[in-house]
Amino acid sequence: MMLSLSSKEEYWLDRAMQGNLTYKESLELTDDLTLFSMGKIANRLTSIQAGNVVSYAVSYNINYSNYCAASCPICAFYVPIKLKGKTDRGYELSIDDVRSELGKAKKEGATEIHIVGGFNPDLPMEYYEQVFSTVKKHLPSVTLKALTIPEIDFIGKVTGNSIKEVVSRMKASGVDAHTGGGAEIFNHDIRAQITTKEKISGEKWLEDAKLIHSLGLPGNSTITYGHVESWNDIVDHMVRIRDNQMEQPGFLSFIPLKFSFENTPLERMGKVKRPSDGAKDLKVIAMARLIMGAALRNISVYWVGMGKLVAQEALNYGGNDLVGTAFSEKIYRATNKSDVSTIEELAFLIKGIGRIPAERDTFYNIIAYT
Ligand code: SF4
Repeated sequence: MMLSLSSKEEYWLDRAMQGNLTYKESLELTDDLTLFSMGKIANRLTSIQAGNVVSYAVSYNINYSNYCAASCPICAFYVPIKLKGKTDRGYELSIDDVRSELGKAKKEGATEIHIVGGFNPDLPMEYYEQVFSTVKKHLPSVTLKALTIPEIDFIGKVTGNSIKEVVSRMKASGVDAHTGGGAEIFNHDIRAQITTKEKISGEKWLEDAKLIHSLGLPGNSTITYGHVESWNDIVDHMVRIRDNQMEQPGFLSFIPLKFSFENTPLERMGKVKRPSDGAKDLKVIAMARLIMGAALRNISVYWVGMGKLVAQEALNYGGNDLVGTAFSEKIYRATNKSDVSTIEELAFLIKGIGRIPAERDTFYNIIAYT
């Protein structure tokens, strides 16, 4: 049931629908409205843009290596590359390992393979090409979503390829989309506290996204929130993603990633002591819907980070997608998030709020209603 809107809420809904809420206005909106009001208008806009359907992908994650040349304070997944050969915690998947993972993905009925890893300077471009072509050879009907934008940039630098060449070789070996990760937070000072210099700046992320999209490789966009950022940094990040999309379309969705702090350097430094609360999680989703407006239809709720129950409520606050089953996800698991889900459970959560569950492909086309 849609709740009626007050004249103030109608005003902000109209502004959001125009798709050009400014940074200043977005902050005014969050001062002017209660969380409940933000949710009401975000839910109304979701219904206009995406109807009554909530989608998800049957996705299988492959993390090819956890060795990394960066040591981001937000990350519990990496093993420093300088420890290679000195620890049994690091790994690089062989092509045989990838084949074995694909066997599991097939059993789970995956229609999407999601591949990311650490910044591993020892892997040549040919390794990635082999991994990608192995996916397409063994599972020709899946879509392949691979590499974050900072990974693409890093691989270009260490293999002596331009971004244009890396993207062209990714596409030629079977990649259909990039993953959109690594955006973190664009604000320079905050980014410097949660990443290291090996990861590209926010400005470069946005510039690379435009170039990658102009080369015909679409992908998602993300934010990592709930660490040391302020609300203003979140709003600034969302407005910059939206403006980037207006200038050069190519983002398929916006996925807010709730920071999971356990086992991370930020936790060890005492900078983050608890996860963001449910109210903040809902506010982030609502503002994502309102700021993206007409520029981006899909606001995805990543239940792995948010937890299933808050994620279910976030679908009433602007979300129209639950991302996916995330079979075999390792990056959040490194932070003690070991929750798993089945297709049936995701459908149950969606039906529980009176919406229609539907399996989708990487490009947000509906494959089947559940
Ligand atoms: S977030 Fe990515 S780049 Fe940073 S340490 Fe972790 S794996 Fe490496």
